[in-house]
Amino acid sequence: MFRILRRQKSGYALSLVLCLIGLTSLFVVLWKTWPEASSANNPFSAFWTLLWTEQLDLIPSFEFKLAYLVILGTAMLVSGVLIWVLSRQWFHLPAEEIVLFQCPFCKKQWRGHRNQELVNCPRCRKQTYPKIVEK
Ligand SMILES: [Zn+2]
Repeated sequence: MFRILRRQKSGYALSLVLCLIGLTSLFVVLWKTWPEASSANNPFSAFWTLLWTEQLDLIPSFEFKLAYLVILGTAMLVSGVLIWVLSRQWFHLPAEEIVLFQCPFCKKQWRGHRNQELVNCPRCRKQTYPKIVEK
């Protein structure tokens, strides 16, 4: 059997960075809203109101509401987790089904299933019928 682990390291690194940014954004939001929200009668609605009224002055003359940060942070966190899951994908293929392809345009070589026909080259993104250079 031939095992291909897709984009393992870069995938993990990217998902780690995304999760960290996501968590930091959410933490900043909590940190900014906590003092007011925790002392309100209804913490959740106070938190909700703060999200849409409080602003960060990261960029001058641009209204960056806390709610945007929540959306951004959540999106980053979700995509981080998704990328992490995708990076863990192992493909189990019988070795005899794997061949070395070469892109006729940029000469990039990669391994893939021999049944691949019209594919997009992983480097130059051109659609091509790759040449089998080694079995
Ligand atoms: Zn190419």
